[in-house]
Amino acid sequence: MTSSRMNGQSTGIGLLGLGVVGSAVATAIIERHRLEDPVVSLDVVAAVVRDVSRKRVVSLDSSAISTNLGSVIANPAVGIVIELMGGVDPAFDYITSALKSGQHVVTANKEVMAKRGSELLATAAENNVHLFYEASVAGGIPIIGPLMNDLTANKIQSVRGIINGTTNFILTKMAHEGADFDDVLAEAQSFGYAEADPTADVDGFDAQYKIAVLARLAYHTDVPVETIYREGIREVHAKDFRYASELGYTIKLLAVAQVNSESGLLTRVHPALIPLEVPMASVNGVLNAVEVEGDLVGSLWFQGPGAGPSPTASAVLGDVIRIAKGTAIDRSTSSNRKPFSLRSMSDHKCKYYIRLTASDRPGVLANVARVLGDADISINSVLQKDTDIENGHADLVIMTHPALEANMQSAVRSIRELDTVLRMDSLLRVETYGGRS
Ligand code: NAP
Repeated sequence: MTSSRMNGQSTGIGLLGLGVVGSAVATAIIERHRLEDPVVSLDVVAAVVRDVSRKRVVSLDSSAISTNLGSVIANPAVGIVIELMGGVDPAFDYITSALKSGQHVVTANKEVMAKRGSELLATAAENNVHLFYEASVAGGIPIIGPLMNDLTANKIQSVRGIINGTTNFILTKMAHEGADFDDVLAEAQSFGYAEADPTADVDGFDAQYKIAVLARLAYHTDVPVETIYREGIREVHAKDFRYASELGYTIKLLAVAQVNSESGLLTRVHPALIPLEVPMASVNGVLNAVEVEGDLVGSLWFQGPGAGPSPTASAVLGDVIRIAKGTAIDRSTSSNRKPFSLRSMSDHKCKYYIRLTASDRPGVLANVARVLGDADISINSVLQKDTDIENGHADLVIMTHPALEANMQSAVRSIRELDTVLRMDSLLRVETYGGRS
């Protein structure tokens, strides 16, 4: 793109949103200019917000901040639009309008890229402009760029990550302090690590959007969000960490996209038992990590801050600078590779951890083993814990050998019906790593 928007002197930037990330991006641009240390010359021309009366933490001339969309979209002085509002509506329409008016767009918005990303990328290609979104997954960690560019020669076997900082903070506290979910959630909310409405994080939606974005890139396959298996962390209990640790595991919310040459691509988000010795088990607090396995490169490991204003601004500005310097290569829309068929979760095979509260009397385990056996599931080990002599019940913790998800779900239905089983407390999947699972 040429013209006064990107004339080799300075690139005009228009911001849609000036909240946590928008303010950090604007501040970084302004400060680097003040220090006369810009990688390229960027000029914040205008910012669009919802409420102009709100106090801002950025020292941007108030005349540049408005609710006037026209100050950014289709403004000839704006070469790159940075969308930092979030959500699908109206972000999808605003991004589309910017692309159609010949403006490049950089966004940190995982939800719009997960739900409508294919349409937006097609619009960008049709209009010969860039749409970049490094900040939409794993904040400051460069993961989109490597998948889009550096790793394209590989057949990607799996992308597995801890890509939601809020849930990782909660699960880490539960693991280290033996605390319960509700208490740790309240603490995370008081630190500002969790929203007042934590649904997007704790129920796995945020991770679902992010893995949809990564799966599309890694597997040149559109993965509709609703096809991704999703389970959050509300049902993980302090006890499960205790028992998992005795068995050599910890528990993390994993987002996984994995191909199997016979049956296709399975994308899933759920809490999983992870062997303590694999690197993913040591990713703690609000950190994020992504492990990519490619046929040529082997296993790659990316770890770092998955959110926060500065790390996210780092990713946003990396995209902006590539476009402004004219070094961006957009390969995100076209691929000669055939898309994968999508696998259903019921075909997934793994070991399972089952915790149930059962009557403490002979024959209980035999009943459960029979139900599992009928579903073609064999038991690997059993722990009997926390026997409550007064009430006559105990925790039964069962680890199975690898089994099919469909079989396990049918067995769980039958286990719940057994007279001797008071409660089915937990069913967690064990993630397979190389030889160890
Ligand atoms: P935020 O603090 O809530 O800021 C949102 C901004 O968008 C606000 O300035 C708001 O205006 C403006 N806005 C919202 N709806 C609008 C509308 N209809 N018209 C005009 N302006 C509108 O959000 P954030 O945390 O900066 O997140 C922004 C994006 O970055 C999201 O897509 C998020 O998922 C992504 N992201 C965030 C982080 C992070 O650490 N926060 C990390 C990675 C990615 P007002 O200020 O007037 O309300």
